[in-house]
Amino acid sequence: METIRNLIDGDACDAESGSRLDVVDPATGAVYAEAPDSDAADIERAVEAARKAFPAWSETPAGERAAWLRRIADHIEGDAERFARAESIDNGKPVALARAVDIPRSVANLRFFASAVEQFASEMHQADRETINYTLRQPRGVAGLISPWNLPLYLFTWKIAPALAAGNTAVAKPSELTPMTASMLGDVCREAGLPAGVLNIVHGLGAKVGPTLTEHPRVPTISFTGGTVTGRDIAARAAPRFKKLSLELGGKNPNLVFADCDLDRAVSESVRAGFANQGEICLCGSRIFVEEAIYDTFVERYVERVKALRVGDPLEDGTDVGALVSAAHRDKVESYVELAREEGGTILAGGKRADAPNARCAGGFFFEPTVVTDLDVACRVQTEEIFGPVVTITSFRDEAQAIEYANATDYGLAATIWTENLSRAHRVAEAVDCGVQWINCWLVRDLRVPFGGMKQSGVGREGGLEALRFFTETKNVCVRVER
Ligand code: NDP
Repeated sequence: METIRNLIDGDACDAESGSRLDVVDPATGAVYAEAPDSDAADIERAVEAARKAFPAWSETPAGERAAWLRRIADHIEGDAERFARAESIDNGKPVALARAVDIPRSVANLRFFASAVEQFASEMHQADRETINYTLRQPRGVAGLISPWNLPLYLFTWKIAPALAAGNTAVAKPSELTPMTASMLGDVCREAGLPAGVLNIVHGLGAKVGPTLTEHPRVPTISFTGGTVTGRDIAARAAPRFKKLSLELGGKNPNLVFADCDLDRAVSESVRAGFANQGEICLCGSRIFVEEAIYDTFVERYVERVKALRVGDPLEDGTDVGALVSAAHRDKVESYVELAREEGGTILAGGKRADAPNARCAGGFFFEPTVVTDLDVACRVQTEEIFGPVVTITSFRDEAQAIEYANATDYGLAATIWTENLSRAHRVAEAVDCGVQWINCWLVRDLRVPFGGMKQSGVGREGGLEALRFFTETKNVCVRVER
């Protein structure tokens, strides 16, 4: 049994109450670790540690803060295989994916914001010879950072790196379902000698520790990635104190395939966009819309490719689709497939729990990659986030209808557009209400670009200088120059 600990004021510690939570390996269904079941008292200690550490950290030159982030990144990179295995065991994702994406991207997040803060500059405005305005951007204090289970270390570092780079201290809470790599990050920070209190990591149930953090009067900044319902709760709690808030929420992303696309590429990338990480990525293109002229061909080729995906033991190379994160989540996905049947859908692939790939995984939470057609665009399965290996395919008549269908949900995170017509690509990207648009590609990420959703998919933008601006307070200073 492995033991996960909080990081508070530089110490690896249990919850003050001594209470612990079971951590389950989704591939086997077995408890393999215990994590602190923290409560308000632990959050209080973490906030106090972060508050104490803030003056010295905020006055540390940006170059030195950057050096700390690089040191942490080097430690993770030097131990990448152990981190990748841990992420796979904790989350159920294929270890090959954790090796290729999650861990390298976590390292990149830390290095990117180390460099970004060294390049971070501010504006000066001079209207006449008598006045100069300049803009100060100062760290805001203790940042509360809350992240989900689907890309655990990747999204955790995506918040921690800019918060710390900009000179804030932090209290960070990973998902209780996937605490392992966050705990390992805490160990790395201690080994690297990061000053006590700069980063505090508190494990526990979101509903128990979350509100203490989001309502805390000494935490003026909250950055949250997770579901829309949780985001609404956090926004309501943060609003009375006028906290600065960044919310990266759910998605139900349209994937528009026009008849003039490169069909080979559109098919293979749309399979990846549907089922990477078991479909548990907020950016997954789970609503595919295909122009009538190529609908039958696309569906035939798509389904053939989906049926060839290998649902397997996450720890085996060659596994395309691992286990879903929990039994509860597997049940949720299953209930949506049942709903799809009730709503008149035709299941062309998958549709049920997958057989266990081997004896080790007999108790695991596996679900077959599932493709559903013949659903109304406005039905629940086509408009609610499933966040699993379930994709719907629907035909459209023309560009106007494609845009109408793309915008037919309350979400507005990411869209993918497949066309060789440059003007069409621009027109559709402008008309579709999503904060992220990919044309002839999917999940290509340049860390400098503004990232985030519209409508119910979030408020604010992360990434690049947007993140450094979010984690700093802007002050205008106007100076009269005596002549
Ligand atoms: P949740 O909203 O359930 O949880 C996210 C985090 O918030 C977890 O750490 C959770 O803790 C915590 N939490 C739960 N309740 C509260 C509360 N009342 N106050 C404060 N924190 C709380 O999301 P999931 O973990 O299920 O993640 C999946 C969701 O995240 C999907 O909707 C997905 O689309 C979205 N997401 C969005 C991304 C984006 O960039 N827009 C990227 C990735 C995912 P605990 O788990 O311990 O309950």
